[in-house]
Amino acid sequence: MSGPMVSAQGVHKHFGDLHVLKGIDLEVAPGEVVCVIGPSGSGKSTFLRCVNHLERVDAGKVLVDGEIIGYHEKDDGLHEMSHAEVARQRSTIGMVFQRFNLFPNMTALENVVCGPIWVNGENRTGAVERGRRLLDRVGLADKVDGYPAQLSGGQQQRVAIARALAMRPKLMLFDEPTSALDPELVGEVLDVMGDLARDGMTMLVVTHEIGFARGVADRIAFMDGGSIVECGTPAQVIGQPRHERTRAFLSKVL
Ligand code: ADP
Ligand code: MG
Repeated sequence: MSGPMVSAQGVHKHFGDLHVLKGIDLEVAPGEVVCVIGPSGSGKSTFLRCVNHLERVDAGKVLVDGEIIGYHEKDDGLHEMSHAEVARQRSTIGMVFQRFNLFPNMTALENVVCGPIWVNGENRTGAVERGRRLLDRVGLADKVDGYPAQLSGGQQQRVAIARALAMRPKLMLFDEPTSALDPELVGEVLDVMGDLARDGMTMLVVTHEIGFARGVADRIAFMDGGSIVECGTPAQVIGQPRHERTRAFLSKVL
C-alpha cells in the first residue's frame, strides 16, 4: 500500500513578526487533485512554496512521497540537506507560477527539453522527441519553434506546463496559473490542467477559478489567516460551507 504523495504536518512559517502559516496539516493522495482557495494574503503561496522548499518551514514538516523535504531525519532531529539533495527532490516536483517564467532566448521546444538534458542527463534525441509530444499534448504542436515573446500568455503558460512535465514529476504544484492571463486565455490553460488531472497526475492547485475547483478537484481546502479553515469535497466546501469565513469568501468570488 502506498502512502500519501504529500503530507504536510503542523507546518508553521513566520516572516519576521508575521505568523503566516499557523499549523497546516494536509494530505494529498497519489492521483488526487486538491485545490487551495482563500483570500489574498492568507498564506496559500507560502504554503505551496514550503512543499518544494522554496521557503523553509519554521516548525512541522512536509513529506513528498514519503521523503521529508529539505531535511534528513536522524536520531537527534532534522538536519538540513545539501543544495544538491534539495535540487534532486525539487526535480521530482513540477511547479507552474502565476507569471510565465520561460527563458526568453529559447524556443518553446528548447524551454521544454533543457531540464531533461541539462539536469537529468537525458540524451538530446530522446528528450526532443518527448518534448515535441508534450507540446502536442498541450495543443502547441505548431509552436515548437516559437519564442516566448511570439506566444500569447495562455500559450506561454502551456509551454510552462509542458516544461514541468518534461521532468517526469510525481507531483505538480500550480500557484494561480491563470490569474495573470487575459480572460479569454484562461480556459485553454484550465483545459490542459483538467486533462492532466484526468490522466492521474497528483496536483496541488492554488486558484481563484472556483468553477475549475468545483469541476476538477477531488477536495478543496479553504485557507484564511494562515490556517486551513475547512477541507472537503467541492460539494461540501462550495455547496455547504460549514464556516462563516468560507461563506463570506465564496459570496465574493462566486
Ligand atoms: P497568498 O498567496 O494567499 O496571497 P502569501 O503566501 O503570498 O499569501 O502571503 C502571506 C503573507 O505573508 C502576506 O501577508 C504576505 O505579505 C507575507 N509574505 C509573503 N512572502 C513574504 C516574504 N518573502 N517576506 C515577508 N512577508 C511575506
Ligand atoms: Mg499567492
